Amino acid sequence: MKPIEEILERENKLSAYDLLGCRHHFPVLRQQVNGKPLVYFDNAATSQKPQVVIDTIMRYYQEENSNIHRGVHYLSERATRAYEAAREKLQKFINAASYEEVIFVRGTTEAINLVASSYGRTNVKRGDEVLISALEHHSNIVPWQMVCEEKGATLRVIPMNDKGELQLDQYEKQLTNRTKIVAITHVSNAIGTINPIKEMIAMARLRGIPVLVDGAQAVPHMKVDVQDLDCDFYAFSSHKMFGPTGVGILYGKKSLLEAMPPYQGGGDMIKSVTFEKTIYNDLPNKFEAGTPSIASGIGFGAAVDYLKNIDMQGVATYEHELLTYATEQLSSIRGVRIIGTANEKAAVLSFVIDGIHPHDIGTILDDEGIAIRTGHHCAQPVMQRFGVPATARASVAFYNLKDEVDVLVRGVHKVIEVLG
Ligand code: PLP
Repeated sequence: MKPIEEILERENKLSAYDLLGCRHHFPVLRQQVNGKPLVYFDNAATSQKPQVVIDTIMRYYQEENSNIHRGVHYLSERATRAYEAAREKLQKFINAASYEEVIFVRGTTEAINLVASSYGRTNVKRGDEVLISALEHHSNIVPWQMVCEEKGATLRVIPMNDKGELQLDQYEKQLTNRTKIVAITHVSNAIGTINPIKEMIAMARLRGIPVLVDGAQAVPHMKVDVQDLDCDFYAFSSHKMFGPTGVGILYGKKSLLEAMPPYQGGGDMIKSVTFEKTIYNDLPNKFEAGTPSIASGIGFGAAVDYLKNIDMQGVATYEHELLTYATEQLSSIRGVRIIGTANEKAAVLSFVIDGIHPHDIGTILDDEGIAIRTGHHCAQPVMQRFGVPATARASVAFYNLKDEVDVLVRGVHKVIEVLG
């Protein structure tokens, strides 16, 4: 690999925004792994963190650490202000109508479980249906299966074609007066398909059916406006969008959230408690029982500030260029098959190599300093649909370089040389 500065300068000229500046913000990328410069292509699992997010978390513990919402002392008020400011940043980032619609949760998984448990258990009855898609991550399958099992309802699945695109003609037929909620992913983590969710939400809306969108893989890569989408719920995780782990957001329309029972009971979600009766708190606190991950919430706000200064349209264009280039390069190698070839794709490249187990691909690439993910990507039904037990998955972020794709391609040639 050429000296990093030289590559950065060249790549910077190619991209629509300040790639050189951005890459320097991520200290973890500066290291060597197995004697080679780290090439990090596991962004769909978790993204790296810019220095400003790391610094914000450190400063919180050094200067502000205190429990929020309860104290009258200086530190508690300061921590509360910082935490609530993060909520407002997130509200603006996704264009929610009110801060009350922005619930802090542990991540996408908890957000979906909250809706399944609170909205689902209240509204899904025997004989009803919950509609999900063939592209879902396990976290948007299992919570709904649990509700359906408990209530005697049926889980229906929108099928996909051989490219990995949902079949909207089938979807339309599956929307009936038995459908109590649609829960679909915005972008597939396993194969990168970008679903036409605005259209899908409109189709459900015509029939008065609420829609939850799993946005875990969308928010880091494209502009998301929940009012424009007109979704009822939107779930995403901080750690996939350059923020810390342990925190995420459930967006929900106020009218729905107000009608829903609390998810968990405890401190902060109450106005008053007696042994006879508890009065629940207003939104958003009604759904936020117990001490949250305060430092992570504040760090999440810093990640949003960071993303606001980045041209997201430029990011989408650049990542698409990388995806196209990587797809061309990898698919021209004999024995390599790309899994998921949707026309609308985010920068996730899943592939298999004839006769070689994906875990072995991952191990040999790791020797070259390349981090990819191998396995079923928490989407076993997607693997079953394509008839593979697992794939190797390279997923990019805006700090990845075209030159790193070349390193990956050379790595794949090496895998074939060694194991093919
Ligand atoms: N949904 C999708 C599409 C994902 O990619 C992931 C994580 O990989 C999740 C849900 C679960 O996110 P988390 O583990 O942050 O809760």
